[in-house]
Amino acid sequence: MSASPKGRLIVISGPSGVGKSSIVDAVLARTDALFSVSATTRSARPDEVEGTDYAFMTREQFGALQEAGEILESAEYGGNLYGTPRNAALPLVEAGHDVILDIENEGAKQIRATFPSALMIFVAPPSLDSLAKRLLTRGDTSDEDMARRLGVAEDQMAEADGLYDHVVVNDDLVDTIVAVLDILKQPLEQP
Ligand code: 5GP
Repeated sequence: MSASPKGRLIVISGPSGVGKSSIVDAVLARTDALFSVSATTRSARPDEVEGTDYAFMTREQFGALQEAGEILESAEYGGNLYGTPRNAALPLVEAGHDVILDIENEGAKQIRATFPSALMIFVAPPSLDSLAKRLLTRGDTSDEDMARRLGVAEDQMAEADGLYDHVVVNDDLVDTIVAVLDILKQPLEQP
């Protein structure tokens, strides 16, 4: 008897403010892919639900999971720890589901190193100027934070071509969602 086919580990990454979560939400609504619920030490925002948006936990709890080898990748971002629990992704992939990880760049690098066959998509802004405008519109970014985020975004964009399988420029949200859905429809191995 042959084993049932595995699903894919799909990473969607990109700089803060680029529109990643809108894209991920749209893809989840239009495909059978499942979302990998990350662990984080940051506090829940008012609209967030434990176990759906994140597994919220203390640093001690996060550290214990790491020590037990239960975290596939992790990174510190904005003073908080984020990581993908093994159980949030691997059993689902084994069961044949595509699983989407919405993670930042350092975690994406770790996934690439551990799972070379992961499908990795980078969402880039049309320009750093446009990213700055989007961050300003969001209104939750101080000048210092803005400079830091733009610096990080510039570095990430410089290394994206070598690390990711696909770089999608989010000029228009609908076009970007269509582009990502097209990528997900492509067969795993490109000729
Ligand atoms: P936020 O706090 O706004 O939800 O997320 C901040 C950043 O952390 C985003 O770039 C998001 O993609 C990233 N992130 C969320 N979960 C994980 C994770 O499990 N691992 C890593 N490396 N980054 C994550």
